[in-house]
Amino acid sequence: MTHSETLFEQAQKYIPGGVNSPVRAFKGVGGTPLFFKHAEGAYLFDEDDRRYIDYIGSWGPMILGHSDPRIKNALHAQVDLGIGYGAPTALETEMAKKVCELVPSIDLVRMVNSGTEATMSAIRLARGYTGRDKIVKFEGCYHGHVDSLLVKAGSGALTLGVPNSPGIPASLAEHTITLNFNDIDGVRETFKEIGDRVAAIIVEPVAGNMNCIPPAPGFLEGLREVCDEHGSVLIFDEVMTGFRVSLGGAQGFYGVTPDLTALGKVIGGGLPVGAFGGKREIMEYISPLGPVYQAGTLSGNPLAMTAGLTTLNAISEPGFHDKLSAKVQRLTEGLKQAADEAGIPLTVQSAGAMFGLFFTEAESVSRFDQVMDCDAERFKHFFQGMLKEGVYLAPSAFEAGFVSAALSDEDIDHTIAAAKKVMATL
Ligand code: PMP
Repeated sequence: MTHSETLFEQAQKYIPGGVNSPVRAFKGVGGTPLFFKHAEGAYLFDEDDRRYIDYIGSWGPMILGHSDPRIKNALHAQVDLGIGYGAPTALETEMAKKVCELVPSIDLVRMVNSGTEATMSAIRLARGYTGRDKIVKFEGCYHGHVDSLLVKAGSGALTLGVPNSPGIPASLAEHTITLNFNDIDGVRETFKEIGDRVAAIIVEPVAGNMNCIPPAPGFLEGLREVCDEHGSVLIFDEVMTGFRVSLGGAQGFYGVTPDLTALGKVIGGGLPVGAFGGKREIMEYISPLGPVYQAGTLSGNPLAMTAGLTTLNAISEPGFHDKLSAKVQRLTEGLKQAADEAGIPLTVQSAGAMFGLFFTEAESVSRFDQVMDCDAERFKHFFQGMLKEGVYLAPSAFEAGFVSAALSDEDIDHTIAAAKKVMATL
């Protein structure tokens, strides 16, 4: 038995399924999840001392690569000062100012501890602000395990086959209307009927929880128009895309301005952080300024703010995101070529520093049903083959992949060479 297998067996005695977040259990790809003990730069090292090139980056936050010395040093210094005070700090203002500068649609921002908290609070705020109950979301988009949003959800919910989780009262789920991503006509039709009852549209501006689907031309712009026409709040869930698709997130990249934005992942530099922010007029409805309640014992924690702020400062260097996009291009073009040579139909898509691989004949994938038509079995074999070659991809056909600044051209070339070997066996 490997050390990972032993550790997984022990973990299952005390932790449901042996993991603290379902997709880590490798249910979507089979086999035993790897247990890691160390990470440095572009690499993860498992308990059996094997090295992997990492394309998950702790599910997004590690945009600088692992164990970045700037983050480590800043954290050590903050540990010496204090781990948490539960009271205001200058760091929180510095963080908020930075977020407002990088994302111009955000006038005011509140820190929370996860992406789930960010979307949950944004939804509550939109409902409180508009006095309406209904929420529009899109099939295959995942916004965290918020009751109202765990309806036809993507990510682990889709991987584990429970896009509609038991435990959510029907009386709550009935307020969530799920439409098709990239189908603006469907949105317009729905709003003709019930637009005056819709508090908010929430959308991943690049869908990253059903693989990687960029918005069709006009889709995000159309959502903006519909919300303006009907007095609904437009929420961009940029937990994944924020500071990754571009420094200003997907909204900066595509030039569409939401009313509220949910943030997570990169904003915490690897520590548990989320945030939501937006238009002053709406954000002023949040407690203690306004009547919509929201709070957090550890929100704005100084260690978390330190890791996040150090990350945001580092990625603000000119050209940082161009370099990341170039890495994604090199990677996706190489993988596509490897597939072509092996006669395996593969479509690659990307947006900034995130990418998706689809085992499909379709030339581009823009809809949920096309994602579901992809060859999941082939993905499983590809995943397992790549793992044996020392390449750690997301263990699900429904997750986007991420690159970090630590990933070198040699790492990418190694990945492509591995893919050539594996593709030949598919
Ligand atoms: N929104 C999006 C777009 C996400 O990708 C995720 C997590 N993958 C979440 C929200 C939830 O974030 P968290 O897991 O930090 O609660």
